[in-house]
Amino acid sequence: MSWYRSAARDKSSHVIHTAIKSLQGRELGLSDQTKGIIVRRTRIVATIGPASESDEVLRNLAEAGVDVFRLSMAHGDIPSCIERLRRVRAVAPGVAIMVDIPGPKIRAGSFGTSPVALPHGHRLEIVEAFGSTSTAEVISVEREGVLANLKVGDRVHIGDGGTSLQIVEVGSVVVAEVVAAGSVMGKPGLSFPSSILNEHLPTEDDAARIAALRDEEFEILAVSFVRSAFDMVSVRTALARPDVLMMAKIETEEGINNLSEIVEVTDSLMVARGDLGVRLPIEDVPHLQKRIVRAGVRFARPVVVATQMLETMTYAQVPTRAEVTDVANAVLDGASAVMLSGETAIGHDPVNVVRTMDRIIRRAEESFDYAAWGEGLELNQTVGDDSRAARITAAMTGAAWRASMQEKAVALVACTRSGMTARAISRFRPPMPIIAITPKESTALQLKVSWGVNDVIVTPANDIDVLCDLAVKSVTESGIAKSGDSIVVMAGSATGGAQITDTVRMVTIP
Ligand code: PEP
Repeated sequence: MSWYRSAARDKSSHVIHTAIKSLQGRELGLSDQTKGIIVRRTRIVATIGPASESDEVLRNLAEAGVDVFRLSMAHGDIPSCIERLRRVRAVAPGVAIMVDIPGPKIRAGSFGTSPVALPHGHRLEIVEAFGSTSTAEVISVEREGVLANLKVGDRVHIGDGGTSLQIVEVGSVVVAEVVAAGSVMGKPGLSFPSSILNEHLPTEDDAARIAALRDEEFEILAVSFVRSAFDMVSVRTALARPDVLMMAKIETEEGINNLSEIVEVTDSLMVARGDLGVRLPIEDVPHLQKRIVRAGVRFARPVVVATQMLETMTYAQVPTRAEVTDVANAVLDGASAVMLSGETAIGHDPVNVVRTMDRIIRRAEESFDYAAWGEGLELNQTVGDDSRAARITAAMTGAAWRASMQEKAVALVACTRSGMTARAISRFRPPMPIIAITPKESTALQLKVSWGVNDVIVTPANDIDVLCDLAVKSVTESGIAKSGDSIVVMAGSATGGAQITDTVRMVTIP
């Protein structure tokens, strides 16, 4: 029996039986925990597509350990995306939903479902056409006005960059030559030179998607091709949903150059290695990954490492050694979550991929140096900008981490409405469980992308004594703590319009 159910049945408790609510059968927080040991801290994001959108596969993916489903709006029209979103929520209500808007991503008309070979030196035409197919002779581009800006010598990458073309003729027809051979299928993205993407966010198409999403239930909006803080603020303003966690996908040179201003205005980040690897030298990608993770952690923003993590498993039963090492290294880099794209969207066995990723993460977490991570972070503290609220939150959560390490606390409990206190303590990557107790379902689900955070829904309470009672009840009922153990409880308040973590209490379990 999961601990929260047994707690909810404990009618003798004056706090917990009114406080812990069942969520339409949703399994909360600690159900995958045994004897107080968290099984996995780094979260798994799985992209949903034709291979995974049946009710049965969605349920199996949730059971295999997916924390967040990603629904890309790059595929399909708006009504079908909304229909899919509602169905995913109904089938797997305990998994958070990330909606990904494509921004100025340019796609080719479909090459169909079988691979089309593009050999080295082969010449083909590129045309602008909507709803047309592409072949080895003619690639159709679903965007008006792009071809006019191309120059002879420009490179165009297909998909995640394996196949590349070079423009050899412009004018009445645009002709390109294959300079990196490969095979393509489906509707791959086309990466044109950055100058062609000169469009602010949200694009007209994204604005229509955002309008359709405004009344839908989802927790995270991933924004593609964010190049500046202004882009991110504009999308946030257009969505006008303070309950949605905004995620900036870093995938262009401008996004990298403006990382420090973007990280201040976004709630979370994604290292979108697919586009990053075609727009910047591919050998820079591992170093950019580390830089983006560090920037996110410093500002208490969850960071997702994405793309080609277990790519081979799109068609094979086992990943390559290099892929296994890549996932483990992302964990050791401190990523909050790792993401599956084609592996779960179009792969032959999405559930097996998630189980494999789960095993790799758990093993990597055994080798993670939790104490060293926290020590390193404590020396360089901040949460967000240099405001008083950010400084106080950094100082208080730093104190909570230090006290929990010194006193060997068995849990860190964050009482949180917005999720901010939980994210602020999560950045220390502590060895003991983090429990977020929150009255808001949307916050509980948003925290599924945060490293090591277990969420529990409670009725609202402001009184710190009541919150401490709830914290004690949660950790004892779950088996995390016993009499005489210490826990550290943190709570926040909204002061002057800003969210501040301003209370830390060391509690001994009675
Ligand atoms: C990427 O480019 O790595 C990425 C995650 O974006 P998308 O899958 O939307 O192309």
